Amino acid sequence: MPGSRMIELANTLPDLSVQSSEYARLLGYPRGWVLEGRAQELADWARSWYAENGRPWVYVRQAETLEVADDAIHIDGISFTSKGLQSTLRQAEAHSVILVAVGAGPEAEEEASKRWEEEKPDEYFFLEMFSSAVVEHLTTITGANLCDWAERNEMAILPHSSPGYPEWDVAEQPRLLALMKRTRKHALPSSVDVLDSGMLRPKKTLLAVFGLTHHTDRLRRLTELVPCENCSYAPCQYRRAPYRRGAKPGVPARASVLDREADYSVNTKALKRWAEERLSIEMREDGTVDFLFRYDGTTCTNMGRSLSFHYHVRLGPRDEGYPIREQRCSPAPGDTGHTQMCQYIENRERLMTAIEGEKPLIGQRLNAVLSWRRAACGAGCYCDASSREHKWGLVFETIHYALVQQELVQEADKP
Ligand code: SF4
Repeated sequence: MPGSRMIELANTLPDLSVQSSEYARLLGYPRGWVLEGRAQELADWARSWYAENGRPWVYVRQAETLEVADDAIHIDGISFTSKGLQSTLRQAEAHSVILVAVGAGPEAEEEASKRWEEEKPDEYFFLEMFSSAVVEHLTTITGANLCDWAERNEMAILPHSSPGYPEWDVAEQPRLLALMKRTRKHALPSSVDVLDSGMLRPKKTLLAVFGLTHHTDRLRRLTELVPCENCSYAPCQYRRAPYRRGAKPGVPARASVLDREADYSVNTKALKRWAEERLSIEMREDGTVDFLFRYDGTTCTNMGRSLSFHYHVRLGPRDEGYPIREQRCSPAPGDTGHTQMCQYIENRERLMTAIEGEKPLIGQRLNAVLSWRRAACGAGCYCDASSREHKWGLVFETIHYALVQQELVQEADKP
């Protein structure tokens, strides 16, 4: 988001990495469910159909004026009556609002109807739900970009609201659309209309209002002013409350700095086994945490000789978001298998310097592993940079998983 002046932007090439867990949730599967068989096929088909044919878009504009009166909210001179939004803006002493419109475009809706008419209800349903997931995802990443921009300008974004949400009559949708259409430099990237019922056309479109405040201290005291509970943006560095969708009923959410709905690159059964069998954890008095992870693999040559490496990681305290303060990798004591790796034989010093010197993610919060793009590489040895990076990814994901499980157990044990 450029600068701290009145922002306006339109984007027709937004990020489309809809999280599988969010898509599965919209499809109606329980939390943690892994799609397989026909359902996975349909989900993959809908995702790739949309990637090829969908035309998502985002429009964002900061309103010029905001007045929060007793009976209504006036945005650029247009009045709205939403008790929820009014209360949020008031409590946070919001000085402005950001108007956001996102859409998945009409193409997927048209294709879904076609599939329905062709008596292909499964395709219809998976594509419909993928379009809904796109709208949610666009809202989430737009909110995340706004949060990042606001944080850097010493402000904070408040939970968004839309006509049709609790305490905001959907009948006010046409007014919000009319306001949205008063664009400045950028036109709305796609045509949107509203029916008398308040329903938008295309229907996979959302209009939303996000409050903006300079009073970031208020958010620390009033958690209902924090949008994070409904935000699935995993790599966020500013999260103030855990993502609650699908949270265990009755268990109070503890502000988590780790994403509990993490979309790991490794399946959770493997992470569970590694956390139990290969990882040891030592909590230190100053709040830092030490980990030792043992990796067992084989060389790519020399008849696949076994080798073992130790990964030592120290994380800063939880309150700081578990920053990765130290990390090092070296052959396990007594291991000789590593001397049989082809790169070791070719140039021992170069390989060992690389293994011991590479420290991906150092200084970043542990959550950063979830958005770390690294090459998928299954080699058991350490000869290539990509295979070494891949192993660091496994180590950090195992640590992340172990800490999340530890937090969940601690919360469940609380009376
Ligand atoms: S987790 Fe909270 S701070 Fe981060 S992007 Fe989402 S709403 Fe904003």
